Amino acid sequence: WLRRVRAMKPHELSSELETFIAERGPITAQWPRLFDEQLAALRAKAGNENLTLAEALNRLSDAKPGRRRAAAEGLSEALAVRAPTLALVLNTVAADKAMEDRWRGFKRPADSRHLGNEVDGEAVDAMAEAVAAAYPQLSHRYYALKAKAMGKARLDHWDRNAPIETTAPRAFTWSQGREIVLDSFSDLGAEFAERAAGFFDKPWIDGRARPGKQSGAYAHPVTADRHPYVFLNWMGERRDVLTLAHELGHGVHQTLAADQGTLLADTPLTLAETASIFAEGLTFDRLLATAPKREQRGLLAGRIEDGLNTVVRQIAFHRFETRFHDERQKGEVSQQRINELWLTEMGASLGPAVTLNPGYEHWWAYVSHFVHSPFYVYAYAFGDLLVAALMEARRADPTGFTPLYRDLLAGGGAKTYVEALKPFGLNPRDPAFWSVGCKRLERLVDQFEALG
Ligand SMILES: [Zn+2]
Repeated sequence: WLRRVRAMKPHELSSELETFIAERGPITAQWPRLFDEQLAALRAKAGNENLTLAEALNRLSDAKPGRRRAAAEGLSEALAVRAPTLALVLNTVAADKAMEDRWRGFKRPADSRHLGNEVDGEAVDAMAEAVAAAYPQLSHRYYALKAKAMGKARLDHWDRNAPIETTAPRAFTWSQGREIVLDSFSDLGAEFAERAAGFFDKPWIDGRARPGKQSGAYAHPVTADRHPYVFLNWMGERRDVLTLAHELGHGVHQTLAADQGTLLADTPLTLAETASIFAEGLTFDRLLATAPKREQRGLLAGRIEDGLNTVVRQIAFHRFETRFHDERQKGEVSQQRINELWLTEMGASLGPAVTLNPGYEHWWAYVSHFVHSPFYVYAYAFGDLLVAALMEARRADPTGFTPLYRDLLAGGGAKTYVEALKPFGLNPRDPAFWSVGCKRLERLVDQFEALG
């Protein structure tokens, strides 16, 4: 715990300068505010409708091609109008960050984030390289298959998240959901299933969606001598079964780590989503195995697209922002150049089966992480691939895996992720570690193709 709270110490400035930076903070925060206000005021014209950003993005998953296209074209136009201001915001945030990084002695633009995330830059670089090298086997191949499934030679960029399912998927009662999720936990041994079942029996879950309740889902620990609570909004959809597994994964993790005491029970970001993604993965396997034939392709497509959006897309974002920050060191980056960098990196990740229609060059402008938390996006890919490597370890030796996995979770925040992965023979500084996770996603694409 002391190691963690002192991690920033070498980069601390004099107390006068620290006071100055802290007091100036609310003023520099006006740039992200300007960004938010621009996006909040944005309206995308689609037919007779004026869509907010959230509505326009949501419509890209609409079943009707015409509605997707209209929303995408309206959004392109709306972003083009605001892009000059948003480019200035992006430039200013990067310049401000570069100045503070220089004073603090950070060498590369991503280094302060790496330190905050408790990861080393080499591991992140190894991951980004492994994912980019896997683009052809993952996204390029999947989007070509999806184009074929939709009866098209190529996809337009607004088809990326289009549904391919033609029948409505089955619904689940609460007790059916409970059964599938608990069965999945029992794949990790009886203790995992018992701990998860405890949340239902006590009960420590507020599951019912009801008027006046906040949306979303989470598992929240209290102090280590109390139990966590799980919050969700159960509607009986397939997604809810996975969310239930996800949050119970967190919940079981929190009960296992409680013995570490309140200061160390909390895990670092790198391991924070381990138990949740793992539980979700086991539950997905079970849903797929029990799904009626006609639902399997849609189920797989949803899983693959989640994977591509978490891994491939976030790494493309990461490569874009790395190049942008590197160029910003030499002075303001023109909007034209930002557009170019965006098209290059997104084009490389999406591949030849996706057309980047005119107007797409401005779509960097709505990604709020670039402004609010520079270099945050890789964390999504990091967490996902780390768990995938663990899942492969389990596939190779299920019985040997469970006790090691239990130790990892019970360790809470007492070890770094590098130390925590060592007992499994896994080394995140090795690019091969990250390729394992990519291979897992590739196998889902194989399954999707086989169902063709
Ligand atoms: Zn989570």
